[in-house]
Amino acid sequence: MQLLEERIRRDGKVKEGNVLKVDSFLNHQMDIRLFREIGKEFRRRFAGEEINKILTIEASGIGIACIAAEEFDVPVVFAKKTQTKNIAGDVYKSQVESYTHGRVYDIIVSKEFLGEGDRVLLIDDFLANGKALEGLCELVEASGAQLVGAGIVIEKGFQPGGDIIRSKGIHLESLAIVESMDDQTGEITFRRQEG
Ligand code: 5GP
Repeated sequence: MQLLEERIRRDGKVKEGNVLKVDSFLNHQMDIRLFREIGKEFRRRFAGEEINKILTIEASGIGIACIAAEEFDVPVVFAKKTQTKNIAGDVYKSQVESYTHGRVYDIIVSKEFLGEGDRVLLIDDFLANGKALEGLCELVEASGAQLVGAGIVIEKGFQPGGDIIRSKGIHLESLAIVESMDDQTGEITFRRQEG
């Protein structure tokens, strides 16, 4: 997605440890006009797919998922991160190892909001090692819902998450795929995508 790539090149900051900071338009301050274009692009890429729910993970996926959900005209459910040992009530639970914080945490979704009959699109801001998406996939599987695909704003193509998710046969669409980034020069290159 040209507009997104241009914005990443202009405003993205490459940090040590293969972290791309996009706080000025995606992860802290949010450019809603850009979000709307992102939502439309997800709609285009999943055109023809029957989707009745979007599932994301707190916190940074929520804003993007909400704007995308307007395009799909479906509700958004976000998986909550929790450190509570004994989670009361009826929830699906899985574990995620955080890329940016390096620790493992539980994610939960209430059984009330995900279940058989749901056709789910996963949405998140970044794809790195694929742990967040895998955790969300596990929740969908546990619930008996159907996974339709996953939409990612920025995939770091030099990390393994994309290959892991695609090798499972999951329809993955990443709007920008970073091929390389250099924290010394700040240079960012992107993988060419069809269409
Ligand atoms: P994964 O689980 O695929 O390893 O990492 C995905 C999650 O880690 C995303 O939800 C995102 O919040 C965070 N993340 C991974 N890499 C980056 C990065 O380069 N920049 C930012 N801002 N977040 C990242």
